[in-house]
Amino acid sequence: MTRAPEPIDLDALVDSLTLSEQVSLLAGRNIWETEPIERVGIPSMRVSDGPVGARGTDFNGPPSVNTPCGTSLAATFDPELIEDIGHLLGKETLAKGARVLLAPTVNLHRTPVGGRNFECMSEDPYLTSEIAVAYVNGLQAEGVASCIKHYIGNDTEFERNTIDSRIDEKTLREMYLAPFEAAVLDANVLSIMTSYNRINGDWAADSKALLVDILRNEWGFDGLVMSDWFGLNSMKEGIEAGCDLEMPGPTRHRGQALVEAVERGDIDAADVRRAARNVLDLLQKTGALAESGPGPELTRDEPEDRALVRRAGADGMVLLRNELTPDGRTLPISAEAGYPKVAILGPNAAVGENRGGGSAHVNPTHLVHPLTALQSRLEDLGAQVVHATGGSIKKRLGELDPERCSALRLDLFDDPDDALSANTVPTITKTVTTSRFMWFGDPVTSGMNPPRFGARLSTSFTADISGEWQFGVASIGTATLQLDGKELLSNASEKVGGAFFGLGKGEVTVSAVLEAGRTYQLVATLVRPRSESSLSGFHVGMRAPEVGDPVQDAVRLASECELAIIVVGTNDEWESEGWDRESLDLPGRQNELISRVADVSKHVVVVINAGSPVSMPWLDHVDAVVMAWFPGQEMGDSLADVLFGDTEPSGRLPVTFPKSLEDTPAFEHHPGRKGVADYAERRLVGYRWYDTVGREPLFPFGFGLGYAKVEVIGATCPSPFVVEVTLVNGDTRDGCEVVQVYAHRLDRTDVRADEPDQKLVGFLKVHVPAGSTVTVSVALDPRGYREWNETKHLWTGFPGQVELRVGTSSRHVAATLEITP
Ligand code: BGC
Repeated sequence: MTRAPEPIDLDALVDSLTLSEQVSLLAGRNIWETEPIERVGIPSMRVSDGPVGARGTDFNGPPSVNTPCGTSLAATFDPELIEDIGHLLGKETLAKGARVLLAPTVNLHRTPVGGRNFECMSEDPYLTSEIAVAYVNGLQAEGVASCIKHYIGNDTEFERNTIDSRIDEKTLREMYLAPFEAAVLDANVLSIMTSYNRINGDWAADSKALLVDILRNEWGFDGLVMSDWFGLNSMKEGIEAGCDLEMPGPTRHRGQALVEAVERGDIDAADVRRAARNVLDLLQKTGALAESGPGPELTRDEPEDRALVRRAGADGMVLLRNELTPDGRTLPISAEAGYPKVAILGPNAAVGENRGGGSAHVNPTHLVHPLTALQSRLEDLGAQVVHATGGSIKKRLGELDPERCSALRLDLFDDPDDALSANTVPTITKTVTTSRFMWFGDPVTSGMNPPRFGARLSTSFTADISGEWQFGVASIGTATLQLDGKELLSNASEKVGGAFFGLGKGEVTVSAVLEAGRTYQLVATLVRPRSESSLSGFHVGMRAPEVGDPVQDAVRLASECELAIIVVGTNDEWESEGWDRESLDLPGRQNELISRVADVSKHVVVVINAGSPVSMPWLDHVDAVVMAWFPGQEMGDSLADVLFGDTEPSGRLPVTFPKSLEDTPAFEHHPGRKGVADYAERRLVGYRWYDTVGREPLFPFGFGLGYAKVEVIGATCPSPFVVEVTLVNGDTRDGCEVVQVYAHRLDRTDVRADEPDQKLVGFLKVHVPAGSTVTVSVALDPRGYREWNETKHLWTGFPGQVELRVGTSSRHVAATLEITP
């Protein structure tokens, strides 16, 4: 056993540093690492995204285990399992030479179209808290710091870098702050990331109210606060509010300018010392201080990790519908069903979506797609399997197709404008295999200085189909596209937003009629002037004309089969950091695909592979629906385990599925207007809204079916913080239920318009063996009976009686109990 190194006296260490050395610690040295100070042996420390794997420093770098997304983790309602996921992520972070994982993401689902909802967990603060605490506990037990994010009010992506989230005090306390509070108080989270937005007027990273008064003074947080990437907007305010670390580096707001500000007396040296000490403290707590700096980035790939991810993915899947047909229940698919021929259809079948987009991107170590896993299971049962995509849901045009194009040549130029002249000699030339590029820093000098360069991508291709071909570009900077020397398009006048984390110009497309057999020259250029952001992006896309009707092809296949399994959903272009979804609809022609297949097929199972709710206009016409989320790298096997009944479906919805976007709580207020996101729905987020205003959801929060019929048959309340619940499983298979306890205030004399009808205060996942009865104790939230008093600015207890509703969703109550907390 290696002995833990003797703790270093941090006060002495920080006091041994010069002012400029202390200041150097307050910003990254590059995108992912802190600044070392060799003179006194302070090493650099690496951080990594988070939250569905530890990616390491490179978006295309060595693979990492990809765990299920946030909604999928929350849908397990199983903190013990999530703690195991935390342990796994801790090991993964260390394998990438990092000591901090930028995770979990615990903003709430204020609207179902929030672009990063898939990363976040739930609409409910208590469920989010319980899952987050378990995640942080597991992670930190491996010696890795969790950096929980984003503090606070970054609940949607609309104008996230500038928007002012106006949230009243009571809502902030009871809803949005709650998961952060739990992570600090119950899991001793070591680090916290501020959000990009303003909150009630102040930048989140400058907010004394949030960082000093609440986080440090009230909750006693003694860890490190870091800014989101390029999210610090000040020198003085940020340092005084206690945003210790500006990320990434090189600094934009600190460095020499901060040294001078301290020397002038504009900023207190004690603020700098405190922040530097917090950085050193995190290095010490994670063990980084005793090392020589970040190590190599390695890939782990252990059978037990694959098994855990497979289990977690399956346990998060929610069975939403399972009809009784003349041949029996549609699911699980059994040998007895004896399907001779099965159609596996849908755009996400052959290539499923293991994760969403943006900084949560990881390259999985292993990837099992739905088609592969389902086909092998069905063939074992003697069925013949046929497949069709039914169309594409790509939001962007695909990349330049290597099978159609000659080698892709990328020229990089020191001077951006040189990219526009065919005769200039490039600074660097390479052959590349992709037409989508993301660079941090300057790709020409490889330095971390803010980039200023030009790029030209050229290729030739022979059209194999006559017709309308589409071409497109997206970029940070200005991009143009030429076909055979003629300009096809330029995005010079486009607005920023919609690509590359919202920092780039979204894809602009154009079509051109091409002749089969002719060869064309395609040249795309990027002029990237210097700007504040060190991120650059360049995407060149192309799409061949569609031949035939893919929906019709899929329907024809389905008509020849006894069972159709349709894997639909979104992907990392629709659900991503940087933008919100515009609607709840499945993209492309997926609704049409499902409805038309349902018209011709005897049995239809729909699998939804998406990170957040979608609308289901075809619901009544299909036999079974499984919400699979973005279940991580073992997705195909996780899905097969559920569809074939090896795993009892035990996921429950961590978010209400609405009938339409118009029905949702923030519909009137999202997106914001004139730079302001007004959280005017206040505390009525998620089920609190549907239950309080009496609106019917498509599926309520907490809902999910199993194969075995497990029922809650009784409940008692021995103390205000424990409910004993008895469940019976009258089935011949083992079952599982998630018991949920909601608190409803009977004394609602002082009812305010946003007083929720009820709120979740306890849950427990209970396995009930076939034919048995079990009684379990459900621990209730110790903070469950308090409310924030806006006049006195403090928590007060519920004044009167409370009805505890014990059931299996926010709408299903099996027993009620009256208590006086
Ligand atoms: C995201 C953070 C992420 C950071 C580093 C930002 O764009 O908002 O969640 O950790 O980038 O990738």
